[in-house]
Amino acid sequence: MTGKLKVTVVGAGLGGLTAAAALLKHGCEVTVLEQAGELGEIGAGVQLSPNAMKVMRALGLEKAVLDVAFEPGSHVIRSWKSGRVLSSTRLKGPLHAAYGAGYYGFHRADLHRVLQQAVPAEHVRLGAKCSKVRIGPQGASVVLEDGSELASDAVVGADGVHSVVRAALMGEESPRFTGNVCWRGLVPAEAMPPGAISPDMVVWFGPGASFIYYYVRGGKLVNWVAMCEAPEWRSESWKFEGDRNELIERYKHWHPTVRELIAKSDRYLKWALLDRDPLPRWTQGAVTLLGDAAHPMLPYLAQGACMAIEDGYAVAASLARHPGDVPAALKAYEAERRERTARVQLLARARSVENHLHSPLAQVKRNFRYALQRFTDPSKHTYKIEWIYGHDVTA
Ligand SMILES: Cc1cc2nc3c(=O)[nH]c(=O)nc-3n(C[C@H](O)[C@H](O)[C@H](O)COP(=O)(O)OP(=O)(O)OC[C@H]3O[C@@H](n4cnc5c(N)ncnc54)[C@H](O)[C@@H]3O)c2cc1C
Repeated sequence: MTGKLKVTVVGAGLGGLTAAAALLKHGCEVTVLEQAGELGEIGAGVQLSPNAMKVMRALGLEKAVLDVAFEPGSHVIRSWKSGRVLSSTRLKGPLHAAYGAGYYGFHRADLHRVLQQAVPAEHVRLGAKCSKVRIGPQGASVVLEDGSELASDAVVGADGVHSVVRAALMGEESPRFTGNVCWRGLVPAEAMPPGAISPDMVVWFGPGASFIYYYVRGGKLVNWVAMCEAPEWRSESWKFEGDRNELIERYKHWHPTVRELIAKSDRYLKWALLDRDPLPRWTQGAVTLLGDAAHPMLPYLAQGACMAIEDGYAVAASLARHPGDVPAALKAYEAERRERTARVQLLARARSVENHLHSPLAQVKRNFRYALQRFTDPSKHTYKIEWIYGHDVTA
């Protein structure tokens, strides 16, 4: 291999763009292939914890992301009907003291736009759908839907939960429907009564369902997510518009704040929550995966994008650390990332059960545990995820 390392990244989501930005910083020649005709993200929120914010800092993007962020005061768990506080962990302040970075809510499009600024347009090919990957003795090539082929020294599959690159490495296998669906929407902050929406990350636990809200875009919008059990299958399109009345009916006995947010929403995006088991490996020769392509996870820990962002930074750093040996670099990247991401995947799955307990006895036990923790160790996160937030992939 002579000259600059040529890397193709398949997918321009949050993970793919982070990888591309980091690869450019290391002096690689990068091409991002994106199937969509234009760059963008859905109208919904995403939260980044300190572990992902460290990557933004290392890429020189921290100021730009903070300009479009909202920093919640606490992580608060409430009971679905009464609104009683079951648990509260202070975020703003203690996280900076412990990890040197904070926890923020974003409109996904705002965050995506900041990452786009770090990847000049000449590095991104739009309307470029990958249909196949060929792994050679040296390097690999991506075959596009139009039949054209792009060869490079390394290929990073950042093409999400239905990854074509993953299928090329691991064979076709459908993700599992979890029996849960998810709805999302945004409400202008000024549409809610003063004081109704606390400046926190609030999650409401109910039988068979939960509901989350937090501010985004510097506090101008409130993002909400409703996750509930639903026996029927729906395709996991991120643009599926659900029936507003169906959601209103599902949450009709919930706390008035929840009902008001649902009623005042601009849109009702709905899709099925899919899950996969952790993979035993995700690299072959000059091809690897990152983010949802490698380890899709349920959203109950708000870590899917954070892990994709960590991966993006790690894969670029590993390629820089192993000049001239792409397979060794990608193996080392996978070794660094696999155990951590698998642990987060499995913990997110476990949370889906604990957040939606049906049995009143199990709920009492859970709530008692939270109350005890508030009393004995109020600084600890209710989910005991200090090991997630405290990790610095850039160190
Ligand atoms: C309700 C909900 C809430 C969430 N909240 C959070 C949160 O608060 N915090 C958090 O960290 N995570 C959150 N997540 C998870 C997070 O959204 C995902 O884990 C993250 O977006 C994955 O990023 P990615 O770049 O790996 O994949 P994607 O975002 O799926 O991006 C994949 C990209 O690849 C492109 N693509 C796909 N196939 C091809 C192809 N064949 N050829 C070319 N391009 C292709 C797609 O068009 C897309 O642009 C949430 C998820 C859900 C469902």
